[in-house]
Amino acid sequence: MTALLEIDLGAVQANWRTLDALHPGETAAVVKADAYGLGAAQVGQALAAAGCRTFFTAHLAEAAALRAVLPKARIAVLNGLYRHDAADFLAHDLVPVLGALEEIAPWRDAARRLGRALPCFLHLETGMNRLGLTARELALLWQDASLLEGLAVDVVMTHLVAADTPQDETNERQATLFFELARRFPGARTSLANSSGMFLGAKFCADLARPGAALYGINPTPGSGNPMRQVVTLTAPILQIHELEPGETVGYSGVWRAARPSRIATVGVGYADGYHRILSNHATAYFDDTPIPLVGRVSMDLTTFDVTDVCANPGDRLTLLGARHDADALAAQAQTNGYEILTSLGHRYQRRYIGA
Ligand SMILES: *Cc1c(COP(=O)(O)O)cnc(C)c1O
Repeated sequence: MTALLEIDLGAVQANWRTLDALHPGETAAVVKADAYGLGAAQVGQALAAAGCRTFFTAHLAEAAALRAVLPKARIAVLNGLYRHDAADFLAHDLVPVLGALEEIAPWRDAARRLGRALPCFLHLETGMNRLGLTARELALLWQDASLLEGLAVDVVMTHLVAADTPQDETNERQATLFFELARRFPGARTSLANSSGMFLGAKFCADLARPGAALYGINPTPGSGNPMRQVVTLTAPILQIHELEPGETVGYSGVWRAARPSRIATVGVGYADGYHRILSNHATAYFDDTPIPLVGRVSMDLTTFDVTDVCANPGDRLTLLGARHDADALAAQAQTNGYEILTSLGHRYQRRYIGA
């Protein structure tokens, strides 16, 4: 009687192919945070089978775990070399994304010790102001070529501030600055777009695109229809149904009160499972094709729905996430984005992988 999280790896592969068909360059896959909560090992293997050759994680440990299932892929670590030993990257054949002079130095030293060139990606600052080589650092690099000695700069990249807002002029400004800076690294490939960035035009796709969210079914073009296939279905069986008289309340603090004779269904999913408490009195689930309102507080392990208008019985399943109510739709009800919905999905669900 636990909830079931179904992950359609065939849809992930189809989404990668859809994105890859947008441009002639290479399409990588961002699988940080356990592939946005869906399972980096399973997703990584499915995407490699579909033809994906380059993967990005955020952390070194994520990359090392991915290496165990993807012996041949290029795996780059977005958060870079910070606080890590270059030897940890070398041991797992990982590529650091270097975004500061103090990260470049230890990788250069490792190359010198080994007596061979070491591959790296360079992250250039163009407006995000989180990670990336600033104009001042780049000036130092261009003044003194020895600072990059022994480094094979495979890719120069930057990250868009407002890719999901095509009319935002920041996109064009960042692209212009980025390609200007990239010209100073003539041997390197260019990388600019996340999922949404890939829909801003061919120029943005550059040599290497870095989609994450769209692979997992999140709409990369929020202003219009979702071109991606749905990946995630979350269903939960009804544990009990309680018959309420008008005036009775449901759950903690009695924040919902029955206005009519009501049938209230309880499912075993709560905020500990990433079904956020802010959804209290506020979310929608589906019973077959019929929307069912969430009533009362979401608690840690249980949530209640008003099934008065449908013919639901204990053991029947409610769909909390699916084609009719996807991560973006639930996110709108939870005042967040689809990314946070997916990465919050907990580890208490029964998981089933289909379609690969
Ligand atoms: C997370 C991330 C991506 C992927 O972004 P999506 O919006 O999920 O496609 C790409 N590049 C960088 C640097 C990232 O941190």
